[in-house]
Amino acid sequence: VADFACRQGLAGLEFAHGIPGTVGGAVCMNAGAYGGEMAQVVREATLLLPEEGIRTLTGAEMAFGYRRSFLTDHPDAVVLRAEFQLSPGDPAAIRGRMKELLEKRRASQPLEFPSAGSTFKRPEGYYAGTLIDQCGLKGLTVGGAQVSEKHAGFVINRGGATCADVKELIRRIQERVFAQAGVRLEPEVRIID
Ligand SMILES: Cc1cc2nc3c(=O)[nH]c(=O)nc-3n(C[C@H](O)[C@H](O)[C@H](O)COP(=O)(O)OP(=O)(O)OC[C@H]3O[C@@H](n4cnc5c(N)ncnc54)[C@H](O)[C@@H]3O)c2cc1C
Repeated sequence: VADFACRQGLAGLEFAHGIPGTVGGAVCMNAGAYGGEMAQVVREATLLLPEEGIRTLTGAEMAFGYRRSFLTDHPDAVVLRAEFQLSPGDPAAIRGRMKELLEKRRASQPLEFPSAGSTFKRPEGYYAGTLIDQCGLKGLTVGGAQVSEKHAGFVINRGGATCADVKELIRRIQERVFAQAGVRLEPEVRIID
């Protein structure tokens, strides 16, 4: 979508370039990066609600917050379509910004290993990755799951990691960070048991 918008000379979705996922998932999670988030560009979304049927909600009615939206409060609702409001821009400048963000991402994130992205939400006043690093947890491993050496905010799969490995590693990180820094880390990833 970001690429398509760029080709049309429409600015506003540069932040989304490099975030893996679908429009529905991004709207649900209010995906964001580098100062941008879906909340800034979604003008309206058409949803299928189990009781009411099809309904279109404005951006304000979508109640976007940090990694949350109307959808996270109504998990049975399905995004059918989303309308973005973008601004005219120079395609070369938009492309340049997207490349710059992608390079930043490649330099700082362990994209060479499978992961679910940032494991924890950003706690108020802190960065999860920095806290985890300061607690000396880079490289902590449970089975095939490991706290990335490149970016401590990512739990990566070094090979053969099971759901139990990832859950146990998340538990140990939460325990250590709370014991050492007094901060409760809340997972950003959603676990389906
Ligand atoms: C390497 C890496 C980097 C990442 N970087 C970022 C980042 O910078 N910023 C960021 O915000 N995220 C980031 N993520 C997380 C990723 O963006 C989210 O996983 C993605 O936005 C979710 O989209 P998805 O389509 O994969 O949804 P899923 O993971 O399949 O689902 C996520 C949630 O959305 C719901 N959902 C999905 N589709 C719909 C729909 N049509 N209607 C209603 N609900 C729906 C699901 O039920 C679930 O609750 C990263 C992930 C990885 C692996």
